[in-house]
Amino acid sequence: MRGRKRHARAAEPLPLDLCDLCGVTLPPERTVSTYVPDSSAALPGRDAYDGLRLLTACCEQHLTALREQYRARPFVQEELWAAKIERELNAGTPVLTMTQLGCRTGLHEPEIRRAIAWHNAHLPPRP
Ligand SMILES: [Zn+2]
Repeated sequence: MRGRKRHARAAEPLPLDLCDLCGVTLPPERTVSTYVPDSSAALPGRDAYDGLRLLTACCEQHLTALREQYRARPFVQEELWAAKIERELNAGTPVLTMTQLGCRTGLHEPEIRRAIAWHNAHLPPRP
């Protein structure tokens, strides 16, 4: 490396969290958060938290407002099942049969069929 100066590595960006209500960004230690029931929540790698959504806010007032929004949202079992199915279908490993889908989601066939029906009934309208 003769003749070349070594450049200092760029500093790692500080992690920031986003208030789910107002969008302000803050360091994680300055935010408040809580879990609320949400039947659309099934995140990859977080099966134990299925049906729970982590809310993050910049202050207690905004966290309370977010809690109220989710309190008014109905918890629909079929929506949670559909979210679990979608997570598995997007996981990268092909699912070829209903049995495979059942094994991966922990759902029984009637639940899978109800979830698919719910999903199809809630597709956004085509333009
Ligand atoms: Zn906020």
